Amino acid sequence: MSGELSPQAAPSEQGYEGALRPSTLAEFVGQSKVRSQLGLLLDAATMRQHTPDHILLAGPPGLGKTTLSMIVAAELDKPLHQTSGPAIQHAGDLAAVLSALTPGEVLFVDEIHRMARSAEEMLYLAMEDFKVDIMVGKGAGATSVPLELAPFTLVGATTRAGLLPNPLRDRFGFTAHLEFYSDDELASVVRRAARLLDFGISEQGVEEIARRSRGTPRIANRLLRRVRDYSLVHETPGDTESVHAALALYDVDEHGLDRLDREVLRAVVERFSGGPVGLSTLAVSVGEEAETIEAVVEPFLVRAGLLTRTPRGRVATRLGWEHVGIVPPGAAGG
Ligand code: ATP
Repeated sequence: MSGELSPQAAPSEQGYEGALRPSTLAEFVGQSKVRSQLGLLLDAATMRQHTPDHILLAGPPGLGKTTLSMIVAAELDKPLHQTSGPAIQHAGDLAAVLSALTPGEVLFVDEIHRMARSAEEMLYLAMEDFKVDIMVGKGAGATSVPLELAPFTLVGATTRAGLLPNPLRDRFGFTAHLEFYSDDELASVVRRAARLLDFGISEQGVEEIARRSRGTPRIANRLLRRVRDYSLVHETPGDTESVHAALALYDVDEHGLDRLDREVLRAVVERFSGGPVGLSTLAVSVGEEAETIEAVVEPFLVRAGLLTRTPRGRVATRLGWEHVGIVPPGAAGG
């Protein structure tokens, strides 16, 4: 997968992402249902002067989970502590974080499904009663010492809600499932980012970027930055031609497919007669990790209606055949 269409953030992008993040719910584009639900939860908590229920944000990367956690803290006017599941490998790691929280603080745990099991159990009690039991000593002499915590709001984010154990999932009072964005919503994201970056871009240019961004604001913002680079270096206006030229340079086609997406689709159609073909066979045939195909390429191709997953393997749809420029068998002559 070329970097341009990866839904994950590259470390070097974090500065840009920070600058483009909406800081209030009102500025957050799209996800209208989630916005209203979250807004109500936060307003009620503020009026009661009480911490809101713990919040779980579920959805694919790049749709705004980190941004929403920052908005929750800002709307509650409380500090935010950010950590992630992989950083919590022992119960002690979590105890250290929890015991340092100030009253009302928002704790954001990204990739919460990757937290160690022992820490998860500690978290249950912390979420419910704002308490933890710390084990002191080892072996037969070990004793558990209860420790009171300041009330806090946990905002957990996960790309794999199905991997969370039920007892953890049940302790979140509110779960938001983030959906991919429509082209119109992405156009609003691009317009807003262009304004913040002080980059003049035509309305057609905005719409073209939105169409190629795979329903993901992170990708939309990144493609906009590539177009801005192109316009600067080639001294061209931010119009449709610049968008076409810049995105062609990065191998992003008119449907938002990149080189690997096209190779996978072409392999299914040309080498396996449209499928069904198994994931590992497909991965070998394009020389890529099965995991990358499964996590990044397939979801998009399926969503775009180019590929389907069946119990017997991956199958190209009629649209998929057409996308690689081949008439599907049986379709010739109508
Ligand atoms: P990951 O799980 O990979 O960390 P994420 O879901 O937390 O991804 P964010 O980091 O919140 O995604 O968002 C990525 C980028 O997209 C940010 O630059 C943010 O400004 C922008 N963005 C996300 N959602 C929106 C939105 N609704 N409106 C405007 N910009 C958005």
